[in-house]
Amino acid sequence: MEIKQNVSLQPYNTFGIDVLAKHFVEIKTEQELELLLQQTKNQFPAKMILGGGSNILFTDAVDALIIKNSLRGIKIIKKTEQHTWVQVAAGEVWHEFVLWCIENNLCGVENLSLIPGQVGAAPMQNIGAYGAEVKDVIEQVNAIETETGKKISLTNEQCLFGYRESIFKHALKNKCIITSVVFRLNNFPNFNINYGDIKLMLHEMQVSDLTVKAVSNAVIKIRSSKLPDPKVLGNAGSFFKNPVITSSQFTELKEKFPLMPHYPQPNEKEKIPAGWLIEQCGWKGKQTGNVGAHKTQALVLVNYGGATGSEILEHAHRIQQSVLEKFGIEIFPEVNVF
Ligand code: FAD
Ligand code: NAP
Repeated sequence: MEIKQNVSLQPYNTFGIDVLAKHFVEIKTEQELELLLQQTKNQFPAKMILGGGSNILFTDAVDALIIKNSLRGIKIIKKTEQHTWVQVAAGEVWHEFVLWCIENNLCGVENLSLIPGQVGAAPMQNIGAYGAEVKDVIEQVNAIETETGKKISLTNEQCLFGYRESIFKHALKNKCIITSVVFRLNNFPNFNINYGDIKLMLHEMQVSDLTVKAVSNAVIKIRSSKLPDPKVLGNAGSFFKNPVITSSQFTELKEKFPLMPHYPQPNEKEKIPAGWLIEQCGWKGKQTGNVGAHKTQALVLVNYGGATGSEILEHAHRIQQSVLEKFGIEIFPEVNVF
């Protein structure tokens, strides 16, 4: 375990932003992490844990000690007739874990196939896609408090999961490092294929026998056809969260914008796809300098090459402003800005 100085973070974030980490260390075991926290308590009071860097926008050099998470390991810890509990180290790659589940005939994460990043970051924003959310299969999250080095475990309820939200984005933000997640997976499938184009894709793929693998493959195909590959075009997925507005605000807007898509939410609220709002403001596929909203999904801001984090953030502000002016709706970043 070596603390390196002035390391470029370009290979460590999917936007491909070239900023320096003044101090950077990679940890491979929990013991290394515990030791690191003890030894650097006074030297580096500010620390930041980095996973796959797929939900981050770096706008400036980072003073905090960057801890690159490389904790690995997947183990089955309990089995009943209906469920299997699996403990997964936080540094495992999310999609590799999904593939592991499919190989082992375990169900519950197939709709979340091909989401970039690590297992340890999944609870952070309660990753979700195609009608599924990771909270539905999380039993427990294990972590270490950054300041005290104390080990903590949170139950699903204690994580306060919400739509792309959790306690790790609020009360525990930068206060703990998730070291492993315990998932409760289903031994028997309970498919959820009503969302978007999944059924259509399964039909196109001529799937007659529905399996977890088939659903995962369908999701992979849809995602690959629509979303920019960060290896080719820097991005961090959806830059903004979908706004949730009151039903009465929606009714007023519907008069003016009859084609506005909407998805009913609990408590008389409506979720409006931010990508549609951005597209209506004319940003889809439009490039400004090195930055733009992607041509097939306006919610994804892309780095066409050489963009700085500030340039992307300024572009995001322009988009927020025009959505506010046209629709009176505020949209907020989903991406973590540093
Ligand atoms: P990072 O970007 O490294 O970190 C994100 C935040 O979590 C940071 O604040 C970091 O400090 C914190 N963090 C990371 N690891 C830990 C840890 N072990 N303990 C405590 N805090 C930690 N997201 C979705 O929800 N659904 C999608 O469908 C989806 N699709 C995407 C598609 C593309 C092409 C891209 C680029 C991104 C997409 N995302 C999606 C966003 C992103 O993949 C997820 O948010 C993912 O969980 C981020 O993981 P990461 O390891 O890259 O986290
Ligand atoms: P899409 O299918 O074009 O849909 C646009 C938006 O409408 C989505 O954001 C989705 O909200 C909402 N939506 C569509 N059908 C819905 C339904 N039946 N019920 C409720 N809401 C519905 O979206 P996409 O861009 O191709 O993405 C597909 C899925 O992958 C979405 O779930 C999306 O969240 C996820 N994704 C996430 C990221 C990220 O970085 N967070 C990046 C790429 C894709 P939800 O987002 O709430 O599902």
